[in-house]
Amino acid sequence: MQKHFVHDLAYYTFDALRATPDITHAVSTRHGGISASPFDSLNLSRFVGDADANVATNWARLHAALALDATATVDASQAQADHVALVDARHRGTRIQNVDALITRTPNLPLLLRFADCVPILFYDPVQRAVGIAHAGWRGTVLHIATRTVQALQAAFGTRPRDLIVGIAPSIGACCYQIGDEVIARVRQTFANADALLIAQPGGTTHFDLWQANAAQLRALGVEQIEIAGLCTAHHTAEFFSYRAERGSTGRFGAVIALRVGNLE
Ligand SMILES: [Zn+2]
Repeated sequence: MQKHFVHDLAYYTFDALRATPDITHAVSTRHGGISASPFDSLNLSRFVGDADANVATNWARLHAALALDATATVDASQAQADHVALVDARHRGTRIQNVDALITRTPNLPLLLRFADCVPILFYDPVQRAVGIAHAGWRGTVLHIATRTVQALQAAFGTRPRDLIVGIAPSIGACCYQIGDEVIARVRQTFANADALLIAQPGGTTHFDLWQANAAQLRALGVEQIEIAGLCTAHHTAEFFSYRAERGSTGRFGAVIALRVGNLE
């Protein structure tokens, strides 16, 4: 990934996605907003205890930095499940309830989800000119939200997995993501390669590799172009919000993707 600054607002982009002029995408950081601790400063969630006016200003600043229309963005009330919404111009500026992934091929309709350790996954199909974004915590990961998002792109737009360019953004890494017996059992039920995803620690605890678990789902469908940011939010709380590292008292950063150029049909 590469880090960018617009005044004091910092965000990251994926190398593989930055190469195309057809989309705008970004993963925001905590820097560049107006919220006070523990939401300092670019918190994008109204549901964590921050003042609505601060969140609105932060939202506007991020969109201005990316030259995106803040009134057009479609977001979602994320439910830690596996539902994917197909959105178009009718959804402009709305929040979709209880979904953890959004897909579209409507130009200038930014898709934005919020994060503090869960895995943001960005999708771009340069052939069918479609984009998507997913939110994968451990629940979404064992429910195959990444798989469901690719399947939704296939069904709606005829996307071929081998054409997809996918970015797995900063989120909690296997270095820090300790899980308990319930989650271990779910991972073992879900993944044939669970032994590679569950990493035994010297003290007897177990960590879960969410990045590789999601990448494995994508590869199983034939997705070949996957860029993993490799940045752990719990390790980098000066840069990102981390629910785990900050014991639940923190803000949310955003991942956003928008198609700039419409279909040629
Ligand atoms: Zn870490």
